[in-house]
Amino acid sequence: MTATIINGKEIANSWCEKIKEYIAKTNYKPYMAVIVVGDNPASAVYVKNKRINCEKLGIKFKLYHFKENISEYSLLTLIEELNVNTEISGILVQMPLPNHIDSKTVIEKINPLKDVDGFHPFNIGTMVSGNPSLISCTPMGIVKMIEEVVGHDLSGKRAVVVGRSIIVGKPISAMLLNMNATVTTAHSKTSNLQQVCREADILICAIGKKEFFTKEYVKEGAIVIDVGISRGEDGKLKGDVAFDEVKDIASHITPVPGGVGPMTIAMLMYNVVKTYCLLNGKKFEL
Ligand code: NDP
Repeated sequence: MTATIINGKEIANSWCEKIKEYIAKTNYKPYMAVIVVGDNPASAVYVKNKRINCEKLGIKFKLYHFKENISEYSLLTLIEELNVNTEISGILVQMPLPNHIDSKTVIEKINPLKDVDGFHPFNIGTMVSGNPSLISCTPMGIVKMIEEVVGHDLSGKRAVVVGRSIIVGKPISAMLLNMNATVTTAHSKTSNLQQVCREADILICAIGKKEFFTKEYVKEGAIVIDVGISRGEDGKLKGDVAFDEVKDIASHITPVPGGVGPMTIAMLMYNVVKTYCLLNGKKFEL
């Protein structure tokens, strides 16, 4: 079997096109504020991508870039100002933050209706309840890709999510459960990981270990979603999945790059429009 490649870039582009047309048609005015602390080179690349996408789609973008030594108090004060600024519809704080700033406190300070990353406990709660307000971007991007392949109802399917972070593993597990899959969330303390993974009709790999998931972890015909991003010795981006061998076993597989990454950005754009609608009592029909 040679897997069908799930082209995240293409699906993301079509979402971005839809979002762009929707903004133009409705004359909505979404406006995202992004806060960056310090000079982490990876953060600089992510933020640049976010800006480029916002500008392409007609979303206003404002960057607040601070030196590494900004106090937590100053950051929280800025967030309070942005929370009540009626022009700003979305607030994103780029992670990681320096050690002297507690990221949990910062996230909890953001008005949940402006929380475009979907990390606020309110948004995590509504998502787990099955009636989500704002869903974090990576899990939502993964769901959209799965929907392209098998639709929304995963009744009777076994899903295994490897990784239990609050950004990826936990929310995607909750969402797959909402879609009626039977879900196992595995992590570094799981025993017999290979055996657990081989039960999956849908395998989500989110551990951040380069090419860890070889074909021995994959059931014939499984859908494999590779969330991991690591840098190989050759400087190229690598996923958690040993793509070249797993593609011969899986029915569908996402590549790295060009899979989950572009979907994450597209779903951020989606969330910025959604926050604008939530805050302004406008219809949201994307
Ligand atoms: P974290 O480091 O927060 O979590 C990693 C998880 O993997 C933990 O739950 C950990 O278990 C588990 N884990 C680590 N090693 C093993 C192992 N050998 N066997 C089983 N489980 C293991 O990472 P994130 O969730 O934030 O990110 C995961 C990956 O996804 C990273 O590569 C990150 O760069 C990428 N990512 C990609 C995005 C995209 O847009 N494409 C967006 C977000 C993340 P335990 O809890 O027991 O420690």
